[in-house]
Amino acid sequence: MAEHVDVLVVGAGISGIDAAYHLTTSRPDTSFVVLESQADFGGTWRTHTYPGIRSDSDLHTFGYGFKPWTGKPIATAQEILDYLGEVIDEHDLAEHIRYRHRIDSAVWSSDDGRWTVAGVDTATDAPFEYTCRFLWMCQGYYRHAKGYQPTWPGMDDFGGTIVHPMDWSDDLDWRGKRVVVIGSGATAATLIPAMAGDVEHITMLQRSPTYFRAGRNANELADLLREVDTPEEWVHEIVRRRMIFDSATFTKLCFADPTSAREQLLAGVREQLKPEYQDLVDTAFSPSYLPWRERIAFVPDGDLFQAINEGTASVVTDQIERFDETGILLESGEHLDADLIVTATGFDLNVLGDIAFTIDDEPLDFHDTVTYHGTMFTGIPNMAWVFGYFRASWTLRADLIAQFVIRLLDHMDEIGASVVVPRLRDDEHDMTLAPWIDPENFNPGYIRRGLHLLPRQGDHAPWLHGQDYWDDKDVLPSWDLDDGTLVYR
Ligand SMILES: Cc1cc2nc3c(=O)[nH]c(=O)nc-3n(C[C@H](O)[C@H](O)[C@H](O)COP(=O)(O)OP(=O)(O)OC[C@H]3O[C@@H](n4cnc5c(N)ncnc54)[C@H](O)[C@@H]3O)c2cc1C
Repeated sequence: MAEHVDVLVVGAGISGIDAAYHLTTSRPDTSFVVLESQADFGGTWRTHTYPGIRSDSDLHTFGYGFKPWTGKPIATAQEILDYLGEVIDEHDLAEHIRYRHRIDSAVWSSDDGRWTVAGVDTATDAPFEYTCRFLWMCQGYYRHAKGYQPTWPGMDDFGGTIVHPMDWSDDLDWRGKRVVVIGSGATAATLIPAMAGDVEHITMLQRSPTYFRAGRNANELADLLREVDTPEEWVHEIVRRRMIFDSATFTKLCFADPTSAREQLLAGVREQLKPEYQDLVDTAFSPSYLPWRERIAFVPDGDLFQAINEGTASVVTDQIERFDETGILLESGEHLDADLIVTATGFDLNVLGDIAFTIDDEPLDFHDTVTYHGTMFTGIPNMAWVFGYFRASWTLRADLIAQFVIRLLDHMDEIGASVVVPRLRDDEHDMTLAPWIDPENFNPGYIRRGLHLLPRQGDHAPWLHGQDYWDDKDVLPSWDLDDGTLVYR
């Protein structure tokens, strides 16, 4: 017999815990469970265990609005897990979370007005089934079980070890080795300084350069406020507002005046590198794309650049011709000798947690739907999806969506509705549709590879997915829930 709950939250990462917090505090009479396929909470911060694993955005905004962050702005995975653990304890959320529960299917029945969610216990393979009124999808955006691993000719010939950062294990033997890290995203920028002191040499091999921002892992405003004994709640709120404001200002500059934004970023790198490495600014750290079209990683205390200055790390910009017994042969003819090759090549986008969705016997193709504010979808009843920000902290959007879902559930109670589904109005069926994210606006590889799986957006609200916190923070909390685009019954 399936257990029934009002709301079923998928995933116990930072978004799922946020959902659970909002349900407990704002709707104490709503029954809910959080189903999580891993053995513990934390999602991203539990899955990734490679050396140095840390956030690349500040925890004043990546943390929750309701719980002050008291540590350094950039945090380690363990610090984030500790913070999430405190939220679970402080709000008695543990009793709602079921671990090792991997959901495989979600079936909506209009006759019953509910979802049936089924899966297996990953420890025992025992099947489980829940029914729920509302499904709150907090399953993240990438496959946790394995990363994106391209193949290159000759990989089988390599005599050393090849590892993807998502498969890192504690017994991996890397100290004292010659290491090549393929990729130059946030993962590479984290791994390299963390390993540089303990390897013979580490090389970042990139096909093309990435933008980085470097700075102290400290917040002067927070330090100043603490010096005058300001309560931590105030420090959090003030610093959070400042960080949001600064990040919005910089994002605006990237679009209004990309040349000066680029100059600012490159000047930051120039400042970090010793005179003998200055040529790297042009050869290794000057991307061909405009700033913010891909995520910009923050490099705390410039540690990546310090590793280069010390000569323990280097950067090579080239294409891979093939792997061979002793390393990687590049198209330029150069050979990189290696004992260990780390493929920091990114993620495999998975939009709905690899869950097979069916709506009244019809398999759901998510790409056929149009989004309502980037969180609900035409034709999908009683479901909200959390997809955070790229250019601001993910959690800012998770939090706005949480408040929206609570408002929607309250509204449904008020009008006596048990089902809500977004539907295009009669005159909107010919609306021009656009991809989930405009490739001209934001274009990292995993989104490019997955656009055909993602829903689409229209050309006016509420059918937009704007990725703009400044817009969303005003629009989402005040949007009229009876404007005719949400159909209730
Ligand atoms: C290394 C790394 C660093 C990052 N740093 C930042 C940062 O500094 N700032 C930022 O804003 N963003 C960052 N991101 C993006 C990051 O993923 C999000 O910000 C955030 O952690 C996502 O939280 P989430 O809870 O939405 O999803 P996740 O952390 O992905 O958690 C989703 C959870 O759902 C579970 N799940 C998925 N499918 C199922 C299923 N079928 N059944 C049951 N459970 C399921 C997963 O096991 C997982 O625990 C980073 C990402 C990575 C990989």
